[in-house]
Amino acid sequence: MTLNLDFSGKRVLVVGGAHASRRVLARYLASGATVYHLAGPGPHSPAGQPAPGVHTPVFPRSVGAWDALIGAVDLVALVETTPPTDAVITAACATHRTWLSRETAAATAPIGSVTLVGGGPGLERLLTVGALAALNAADIVYYDRLGPTDRLEEWAPGAEHVDVGKAPGHHAVPQRDAERMMVASALAGRTVVRLKGGDPFVFGRGGEEVLACRAAGVPVTVISGVTSAIAVPAAAGIPVTHREVSHLFTVISGHAPITDSELTHLIGLGGTIVVLMGIGTLQQMAAGLSRLGMRTDMPVAIIERGFAHDQRSTFGRLDTIGELAAHAGVRSPAVVVIGDVVSLAANGDDAAADLLREAATLTA
Ligand code: SAH
Repeated sequence: MTLNLDFSGKRVLVVGGAHASRRVLARYLASGATVYHLAGPGPHSPAGQPAPGVHTPVFPRSVGAWDALIGAVDLVALVETTPPTDAVITAACATHRTWLSRETAAATAPIGSVTLVGGGPGLERLLTVGALAALNAADIVYYDRLGPTDRLEEWAPGAEHVDVGKAPGHHAVPQRDAERMMVASALAGRTVVRLKGGDPFVFGRGGEEVLACRAAGVPVTVISGVTSAIAVPAAAGIPVTHREVSHLFTVISGHAPITDSELTHLIGLGGTIVVLMGIGTLQQMAAGLSRLGMRTDMPVAIIERGFAHDQRSTFGRLDTIGELAAHAGVRSPAVVVIGDVVSLAANGDDAAADLLREAATLTA
């Protein structure tokens, strides 16, 4: 059931084993419905505790009892039951004109799974269909502020949301602890989503999380995301490659200073250089590149807070960007682009992102 309807004040009867029905129960609870749950008898035993806030009426033992119950609710969400009970429910729904919705059972495997989801650079429109589907099926979402979180409640209704990033005034959960938490949730049978900014494998530590899951025998999949390395320059009108201007681009982390030998190789390649986490080491990088022979009039752009309402681009040249950045007070998160492709953007061109944001508002 993926329709976003308002169920406030509606009475919804969910039929199916507790484990198989957990997603459906969570979704209707999150939608504001008054939720009743009949767990058995069915093909699966009614294992587990009733979810908090869910009413558990006595299981009807006669056609009359089913009839009374179904006559008293607005919608029946049928997850699983035996064929004879299915027939009784279908007939009673027809009699009372009660809506009947057949819903997919959640995974009932003893071990859950982990899905690493690339959330893109922060704009809802740049979440993939796969990312939204994984979030929708999640029992628990581990997120941080680098990923898009504006409407997490809607994307993952009813799921538990755990912030493993750096909340203002708090330390981030250390990487190993976050991995342990994800693995423990999956081993407890839950469908886990780890929502990350951009793409999980681009400076996202996704590889380490995959290894942690494999080591624990937890099934793990990765849903690629739109990386800021490409999308944020695009949001400022800069294509990372362009025919006859640049036929390659290198994405490098500026987290630690880039060595002279690396800089020499980058210059030798002659393509676009995209630096993530590069604000702290910008001065060192620009000075190093000019010292080692890059043209000092090479165009450089810094795009801060790509796709946010206060996205800002600073355009300069290799020999001026350090001063311009200091003057403008540029801050992380930002993407630095060095190369001739930068001149393809009109100066101060944040229009691409503006258009996307407008489109998002129009369809919201
Ligand atoms: N996995 C992410 C990158 C993680 S490293 C991806 O694929 O995009 C974090 C760095 O990404 C930030 O320091 C910044 O350089 C860049 N970044 C991510 N989102 C950004 C955004 N919306 N605007 C500007 N830079 C961004």
